[in-house]
Amino acid sequence: MKKRLLVLGSTGSVGRNVLDVVERHPEQFEVVGLSARANTGLLAEQCATHPRARFLAQDPDAHLRMIREAPDMALRAVEPGESGFVRLIEATAPDLLVNCVVGFVGLRPTLAALEAGIPVALANKEAVVTGGKILLEASRSSGAPIIPIDSEHVALSQCLAGAKVEDVRQVYLTASGGALRDRAIEEIAGATIGDVLAHPTWRMGDKITVDSATLLNKGFEVIEAHWLFGLPFEKIRVVIHPQSIIHCLVELKDNSILAQLGTPDMRLPILYALTYPSRIETTLPRSRITDFPGLTLREMDDERYPCFSLALRAARTGGNAPTVLNTANEAAVGAFLAGKIEFSRIYAVIERAMGAVAPASIGSFDDIVETDRQTREYIKAKFGF
Ligand code: MG
Repeated sequence: MKKRLLVLGSTGSVGRNVLDVVERHPEQFEVVGLSARANTGLLAEQCATHPRARFLAQDPDAHLRMIREAPDMALRAVEPGESGFVRLIEATAPDLLVNCVVGFVGLRPTLAALEAGIPVALANKEAVVTGGKILLEASRSSGAPIIPIDSEHVALSQCLAGAKVEDVRQVYLTASGGALRDRAIEEIAGATIGDVLAHPTWRMGDKITVDSATLLNKGFEVIEAHWLFGLPFEKIRVVIHPQSIIHCLVELKDNSILAQLGTPDMRLPILYALTYPSRIETTLPRSRITDFPGLTLREMDDERYPCFSLALRAARTGGNAPTVLNTANEAAVGAFLAGKIEFSRIYAVIERAMGAVAPASIGSFDDIVETDRQTREYIKAKFGF
């Protein structure tokens, strides 16, 4: 039986890698649904490759374009809008939701799938950062697992397999350090968009590449590891590993240290997530361990990455703080990528928002949406974007 996949965010960097893996293993998978925001050219190509897939173009103009240019596509289209993702889940009833959407917008379909008992392979870390508590509750009550796609968490799930949390002394998430890791600290503030997007090891979408340069991405991953593996924050540390070959290390109480290694190719963690809990042979390029560069690990420099401390503060505060952190970051990164603010202002915007939005506990999806709304409103009023 083929695993029937619904791939949200299929035209983004992770989504394209998911389809690459799927197309290498046609005997394993069938794509029953695809979604994109506005890249209709690529979405139409993907629909042609996967002729039984329903699709969603989230942007209303993109939706109309898709239908107008190919009227036979109308039957396969799902109406966009606030409930578009949920409609696509209902229309396709997949065996696995593969969520590669960027940003907070990915929370709702993740929750809907888990509530319906559909396992979720999750690249959308913002969903766990903002909604970790309610996603875990939904997963527990329906029995549908959340399977990470993030390379560090795929690594962690393998190194932690069979270990009890009390046996774990420390887990180390590795960070490349992003595009600005070797730049003099006083020159970071004025880094251009081009500087920030030149990631040294991973090829990814723009938003996550900026998050790598601020190291907020790693802060999100600490929160993700906390929720997905039940690890207390004090057991999660970050170390700089410029080669991006070691994806995590787990130190156990008997001083054993386990690591997971692989070349920085997103298709490897994706393959693991798509086939979990099985493993299959693959045509993906194999790593030759004797070709690995010299592997180094070093302490992180807090002064270089002030946003990382904001993430830890939000993580420890809990409640709606991680949502404020995430929403403020989405707005600030958007403004940076649009050329409206300097790189160093990303920190300032998040820091101000975290001080301004009232703390609240999170009991439901609506509570998270409300915090997101308040944060956006504050930033609009204060910074104008
Ligand atoms: Mg990662």
